[in-house]
Amino acid sequence: MENYRIYLTEEEIPTHYYNLRADMKKKPAPLLNPGTMQPMTAEELKGVFCEELVAQELDNDTRYIEIPEEIRDYYRTYRPSPVVRAYNLEKKLGTPAAIYFKFEGNNTSGSHKLNSAAAQAYYAKKQGLKGITTETGAGQWGTAMSMACAHFGLECKVFMVKGSYEQKPFRREVMRTYGADVVASPSDTTQVGRSLLEQFPGTTGSLGCAISEAVEVAVGTEGYRYVLGSVLNQVLLHQSVIGQEAHTALSKIGVKPDIIIGCTGGGSNLGGLIAPFMGEKLRGEKDYRFIAAEPASCPSLTRGKYLYDFCDTGNVCPLAKMYTLGNKFIPSPIHAGGLRFHGMSTIISELYDQGMMEAVAYEQSEVFEAAEIFARAEGILPAPESSHAIKAAIDTALECKESGEAKTILFGLSGTGYFDLAAYQQFNDGTMTDYIPTDEDLAEAIKCVPPQPAEL
Ligand SMILES: *Cc1c(COP(=O)(O)O)cnc(C)c1O
Repeated sequence: MENYRIYLTEEEIPTHYYNLRADMKKKPAPLLNPGTMQPMTAEELKGVFCEELVAQELDNDTRYIEIPEEIRDYYRTYRPSPVVRAYNLEKKLGTPAAIYFKFEGNNTSGSHKLNSAAAQAYYAKKQGLKGITTETGAGQWGTAMSMACAHFGLECKVFMVKGSYEQKPFRREVMRTYGADVVASPSDTTQVGRSLLEQFPGTTGSLGCAISEAVEVAVGTEGYRYVLGSVLNQVLLHQSVIGQEAHTALSKIGVKPDIIIGCTGGGSNLGGLIAPFMGEKLRGEKDYRFIAAEPASCPSLTRGKYLYDFCDTGNVCPLAKMYTLGNKFIPSPIHAGGLRFHGMSTIISELYDQGMMEAVAYEQSEVFEAAEIFARAEGILPAPESSHAIKAAIDTALECKESGEAKTILFGLSGTGYFDLAAYQQFNDGTMTDYIPTDEDLAEAIKCVPPQPAEL
């Protein structure tokens, strides 16, 4: 029996981000300016994002982008993250499959999001900016950004979806400890916020709305830019450290995964995990099966449409071609807050559309059952988001048990569940409910998608 944990040294933290787009023959569709329906130019994006990140966002060709030493130094405080062989889970399931997971929850933000937050804060500081604005749903991204801003010396203003702001007051305190200014969204401090509050007085907010507010403030405040924790190409680029480390660790012990699984909200932890493996598949060097696991209540890949849509409810952001449920779609308040986004990364959307990967959707009570099995077997209390990947990994391992195939499964355990104890409480009390939108709900929601551009 080999070790449970496969460790890398600090020297094995990747020196470059791997840009999967460089290996895609058909590139993800460009962001469009909703006014002109033409691709967003660097000039236009620079009003919202800092310059280096704009360059990364638009770069479809450079395969490897060097990670500045300052970012690598910060990564050293919590990376490399371990790849763990889930022997106890395998035994419990009685599967011939080998299950590995890459754990990203070993930092105070509790998730993989710090990988991109560190990069985004660094480039903003390097440009001489004063601060950034952002949104947060469940709170992981806001926490990660607060930590990174504290480290690199930037102001940080976080619009937190009101439902979470009220449900998760302790998340807020973590962010405030790192010096962030946290505002419940919709707020009366922005035009978008005020108009939404007028239209929907009791609203608990949404990620799309918080994005609109954060962009409005960034664009209107001197020395400020906006940062986003998922969906964008640049975020998937930064998250490639996850996949590169996993690839190195497994190569060290001579293991090649057959099936690679991740949960998907906006697609960044999955995109980062699969990046180097998908690169091999795209270049025709190796084959893998990739599975995206999403919530049945917000099923953008499995039931959405591949269309140009706004990334935000307030329609102040560019249009992205992605699997979307419609920018006004407000998913039921499930506990996997990080997966409640109506759209999906354009990279993941394009790969899915090309048939390079599969997607599955799960209801939250079956996801928590998987979380419980995993927690009892492996000791780690998983985030509800990550538990979607666990559920898919368990299902796949049980298929192997049926067929007698000893496949190797790698899944991304994107975070810990310590801030989601109210959700675990509901599950343990047996009061958790599932909500799946009907076809009628989805048909109604997709109507808000703007007219599509003529073929570019
Ligand atoms: C935010 C979050 C996700 C979903 O975001 P992606 O961009 O799809 O990765 C998944 N897991 C955890 C723990 C998160 O915090």
